[in-house]
Amino acid sequence: MPEFDLILRGGRLVDPAHGLDAPRDLGIADGRVAAVEEAIDEARAARAIDLRGRTVIPGIVDTHVHVGGFGGRTRAAGHRMAAETGVTTVLDMGSRMETIVEGMRAAGAGLNVAALLSSAAAFPRERLDPSGAEIGAALEEELERGAYGLKIIGGHTPLTPEATARCVEVANRRGVHVAYHIGTTASSSNLLGVRELPSLLGDEGRVHVAHVAAYCRGMIAPPLEECAEAIDVLARLGGRAVSESYLSTTVGVGNATSGACDGDEVTDHVTRNCLAMRGYVPTRADLRRAIRDGYCGVFVERAGRVVLAHGAEAQRAWEEAGTQVGVSFPVTPPESALALMLARRADGAFAVDALATDGGGIPRNWMVERGLALVRAGAMTLADYVRKASLNPARMLGLDRKGHLGAGADADVTVLDLERGVATLSLVRGRAIMVDGHVVGSGGTLLLTEAGARAAAASGLEYEVADPRRSSMYAVGAG
Ligand SMILES: [Zn+2]
Repeated sequence: MPEFDLILRGGRLVDPAHGLDAPRDLGIADGRVAAVEEAIDEARAARAIDLRGRTVIPGIVDTHVHVGGFGGRTRAAGHRMAAETGVTTVLDMGSRMETIVEGMRAAGAGLNVAALLSSAAAFPRERLDPSGAEIGAALEEELERGAYGLKIIGGHTPLTPEATARCVEVANRRGVHVAYHIGTTASSSNLLGVRELPSLLGDEGRVHVAHVAAYCRGMIAPPLEECAEAIDVLARLGGRAVSESYLSTTVGVGNATSGACDGDEVTDHVTRNCLAMRGYVPTRADLRRAIRDGYCGVFVERAGRVVLAHGAEAQRAWEEAGTQVGVSFPVTPPESALALMLARRADGAFAVDALATDGGGIPRNWMVERGLALVRAGAMTLADYVRKASLNPARMLGLDRKGHLGAGADADVTVLDLERGVATLSLVRGRAIMVDGHVVGSGGTLLLTEAGARAAAASGLEYEVADPRRSSMYAVGAG
């Protein structure tokens, strides 16, 4: 019996957790990293892959995707769309577990998937002020189905400030992941909501702040002033707030929100903000006008993937779906996205912990494409990039065996071609899920809490019990 199942030979291995940036052979056995050496004899392995000229990094972890429902439609295509870019682990930001499990069975791409219960799914728009007991019951039920925690979708479907604070408190007490798209009935999905955050968290609250750039679009102050203030709020919360941000801007696919109308009224608060930014009012007629004018795009499915349509096709898709469809506006200025991606704290650590995409079924899976562009532009080192795209996100989720390639780590690996700026191979626990941009994985591994183990076993999917309390959100002392 050979000692290793697989050797990844001769790649430049970049593993900032171990201060390593050098050519190394990586030996994999039973889905784990078994050896990192200058040279491993091929006779010791069943198989070897020559990766000279390539860069080997711990598998990319995207802490903000939508592979479950989005905009009223199933987005299982998101598994493939994320996996083909080199991502190995994702956090789905708000679905129902049945949608996640169904999607993984039908269209999974071999990813590790943790998923959060959406507050909007648990508490429809007319339920603005659920009690702690109601929140706890909804959360517990979903944890038992395999959820990793709770996503408060306040920006789109706001709760009262009190109920938002209760969501954080209930999730913290339960020791599960809790992410917050900023915004309550007293604030909004912009800098006003960022200013409200410390009062919601009180002295103890801990939270994952979703896509910080989305609150710095220049609605309240010039964009870079908003970024500086958001960074300051995060810094003052210390380790109690972990955060990610995306590189989606006014160029390419912009934001993602809902085109839903109730009667004549546009219901989603982010959509309402986007309309207001260009002088439209939040009515069905004005949203139709914004689509016709080309300001608002509509997500449509074409050949098994989601693309952004404009003009007549967009209007048709929105009308045909009875407005229940995802839409997009070019609203995040590039200067905000870049400032937040690059900003550092006084100690040199990134002010925003992670690069994420808000991708998956939304066609902007840019962990590698836009992330590596920053490396190529000299805006960050490759080790910085690995921190932002793998190490920090793994720590945000409390996944100790991911984000690095030390002995005993999960053999989740992304292989990069730096010259072309793409991922050419990715492995999950030693098995290839993507080769040269083509997905070869299927199904996937549910990452869940102890409470979900029984349901996961019944689902037939692979699963792994993890402990969200190991997240850096919980591990660091109050700031
Ligand atoms: Zn999102």
